Amino acid sequence: MIDQDLLERTIAFHGHFCPGLLIGYRAAVIALRELGVKRAVDEELVAIAETDACGVDAVQFLTGCTIGKGNLILRDWGKQVFSFARRSDGRMVRVALRHGATFREEDQSLSDVERRQRARDRMQTMSDEDLYDVRWVEAPLPGPARLFASVRCSQCGEGVMEARAHLRDGQPVCPECYGEVYTRRG
Ligand SMILES: [Zn+2]
Ligand SMILES: [Zn+2]
Repeated sequence: MIDQDLLERTIAFHGHFCPGLLIGYRAAVIALRELGVKRAVDEELVAIAETDACGVDAVQFLTGCTIGKGNLILRDWGKQVFSFARRSDGRMVRVALRHGATFREEDQSLSDVERRQRARDRMQTMSDEDLYDVRWVEAPLPGPARLFASVRCSQCGEGVMEARAHLRDGQPVCPECYGEVYTRRG
């Protein structure tokens, strides 16, 4: 049922094998199948993750929706919910982990570590239906990534995306020098 080779490569990308990774792994497999698409080379696929936890790495690795390409949107809502859309026609599928799906009464007495272990084992054999609520939804898609001009910060001299620069005395200043992030050393 699970492509062990693909799973191994996903684990190698993430660094360890945890239940969270499997949540994203199986959600991504479902989405690619439902949408009838392969891993996105460019931005033809868009993913929205409602968590910033481990599963996001599986989503990035399997679907090609990544932070860097701008076709992975992180909504830090603390929910194990992943939505995926095709740009060609806007079709979007939402894959939501069912609350408590991987937990069993007998786990009650176990330690956290053992409980996670059990969840991980179960998640490899449970059916898609038992694990997730999968439905087609409609939601506006973010626009494709845009290329912004870079300007020179008048304080540090480093380049900064024009859209991120501030103006101080009419001169462009990067967020760092503007004091938005932290105070620069020296
Ligand atoms: Zn993890
Ligand atoms: Zn600067």
